[in-house]
Amino acid sequence: MKKYDVIIIGCGPAGVAAAKILINNNINFCMIDKDKFPRKKLCAGGLTNKCVNLLNELEFNFKNIPYNEIKQLSVRSNNKIYTLNLNDPAISVDRTQFDNNNLNYIKKYTDNIFENEQVKEITDSVVITEKDNYEYNYIIFADGVNGISRKYTNKILGFCVESNIKGKTTNDNILLSFDNIKYGYSWIFPKQGFNNIGMGKFRFLKDNYKEMLIKFCNESNIETKDIKLSGFHIPLFNTKRNLVVDNNKLLTGDAFGFVDPVTGEGIYYALLSGKIAAESIVQHINCKNKNLKHIYKKNLKKVINKLNFRKILNFIFYSSLRSIIIKVLFFNKHTKKFLEKMFN
Ligand SMILES: Cc1cc2nc3c(=O)[nH]c(=O)nc-3n(C[C@H](O)[C@H](O)[C@H](O)COP(=O)(O)OP(=O)(O)OC[C@H]3O[C@@H](n4cnc5c(N)ncnc54)[C@H](O)[C@@H]3O)c2cc1C
Repeated sequence: MKKYDVIIIGCGPAGVAAAKILINNNINFCMIDKDKFPRKKLCAGGLTNKCVNLLNELEFNFKNIPYNEIKQLSVRSNNKIYTLNLNDPAISVDRTQFDNNNLNYIKKYTDNIFENEQVKEITDSVVITEKDNYEYNYIIFADGVNGISRKYTNKILGFCVESNIKGKTTNDNILLSFDNIKYGYSWIFPKQGFNNIGMGKFRFLKDNYKEMLIKFCNESNIETKDIKLSGFHIPLFNTKRNLVVDNNKLLTGDAFGFVDPVTGEGIYYALLSGKIAAESIVQHINCKNKNLKHIYKKNLKKVINKLNFRKILNFIFYSSLRSIIIKVLFFNKHTKKFLEKMFN
């Protein structure tokens, strides 16, 4: 049976960031994903400036694929449009191509990437897939919101729907509307030749998403006759979950619920938690008498504090005060700076 120090389950952003750190530290690892890449991933593909910086640090180059530079953020609230120029532009990519490009970079360093192979079971020392068995010392769960790690966590979920619609795009402007949905927002993200349109909610409440999204598109002059919606869960950040299981299995990205409670940003937090998980394992290998859970928790402290603060902001922002808060945030250059930070 093949044996690896670390098995990474999932080849999305959390998985590839972890892989890059293990490569840098010469750790024997493999990656397993149930899908063959390029695989479809529901996502608006918005990368904030801090995400771009982290990608650069990890040496992933999103400029290999088509992308839009977003220089302006428009916000609709109470039927009024407010705009904000972004000093540090955000990036909009096609998520399928983005994940494939990142994985291709990892493939330059290792052949131990097993795609199209679903993990079915995990014992104390063996990962069992539909094709093979692999022995491990550590596991990094980077398997997203609905992966096999779900059985170790008690996740509370929100919900998003989206559709890619061909046609004219705004190129360098994204629109967020807070008018059409409670506890969340609708968006238009321009891509190369199409718009990604969607809405997401930080509560798991049933709603007529199709009707709401068509209304949003009509208000935004977007043709809806071919609209086909796909929906997916988004995890809500909650520190009461396990970060580490059995002192050798670490949860990262959506598998834990590292998603910004105000904006829904998850790619940056997936990359960051994947990186920190791998760094924590390297530290543990070098100092076995330390507890891995303590190491990982300590290394994540800043991230967890930040997301806990954003959780409080979520309750304030997604309340009946929302339109007043937006008005205040767009009031002058100082308040706009705060807003820019929120989306940066
Ligand atoms: C509609 C929508 C729009 C979004 N828009 C944005 C956005 O614009 N910007 C942003 O920052 N975030 C956005 N997010 C959030 C973001 O997509 C996630 O937070 C991010 O993808 C998490 O990355 P991950 O690596 O943790 O998991 P994923 O990217 O979900 O990767 C998990 C991988 O694990 C694999 N896997 C799962 N189970 C198994 C198994 N049993 N065996 C083997 N492999 C398995 C899957 O095939 C997958 O490849 C959006 C989310 C949704 C739903």
